[in-house]
Amino acid sequence: MRIVVLGSGTSQGVPIIGCTCKTCLSENPKDKRLRASVYVETGGAKILIDTSIDFRQQMLRAKITDLDAILFTHHHVDHIFGLDDLRQINQRHKKWVNVYGNKKTLDEIKITFRYALDEELQRYMAVPMMIFNYLENKEFEVKNIKILPIEVFHGRIKIFGYRIGKFAYITDASMIPEEEMEKLYGLDVLILNALRIAPHPTHFNLEQATEIALKLKAKKTYFTHITHDLNHEEIIASLPANIELAYDGLELLID
Ligand SMILES: [Zn+2]
Ligand SMILES: [Zn+2]
Ligand SMILES: [Zn+2]
Repeated sequence: MRIVVLGSGTSQGVPIIGCTCKTCLSENPKDKRLRASVYVETGGAKILIDTSIDFRQQMLRAKITDLDAILFTHHHVDHIFGLDDLRQINQRHKKWVNVYGNKKTLDEIKITFRYALDEELQRYMAVPMMIFNYLENKEFEVKNIKILPIEVFHGRIKIFGYRIGKFAYITDASMIPEEEMEKLYGLDVLILNALRIAPHPTHFNLEQATEIALKLKAKKTYFTHITHDLNHEEIIASLPANIELAYDGLELLID
């Protein structure tokens, strides 16, 4: 399985427009964070998690030219607003793409991208062409690859993270119920959100994410959906063993 972190930033990205803090002015490429998204290739299946605002740039940078499925975590702007550029995949490969998410997420995508449902425009593949797959909180398959949703709280809404084999991706969580935690043991790689130092009502901060990582004991945990609060060099020096900050372009291989 090959995992590529396409974006490790929070909703504004890093640097933030107009900000002159140390991280925003940093020359370290690991402090340049596009909006959160990952790409997973396994058993011949090409799977994207979320179409971030930076989707186009991320696909170009990672040289991804095809997708079999898109798994959406939730409907917030930073996770869906790149979706219009799915047209390039549709047109190049003359196919519709399967998209997956919970009911709220897919219903909201249909409202936000209402034009994509226009049958006249679909005839010319002039809109993102999606086959909507509504998920329950139970295992499903993409091209024979088993995927397990992990239902977490993002403030008061329930959103999905996903486990694929020994890899799991959870973003924008602020609470993981005990029964969902049970699905997250025995991982080789966990990517988990850690927003900033100070607590936040709808996202784990660094301390909360660290506590969960230490409990789940994945072989490696990488934090994502990071603000400019977390300067890469400074923070990695302070993290426990086997916990790191993700960064854009990070590539991981697992058996
Ligand atoms: Zn987000
Ligand atoms: Zn800043
Ligand atoms: Zn969100």
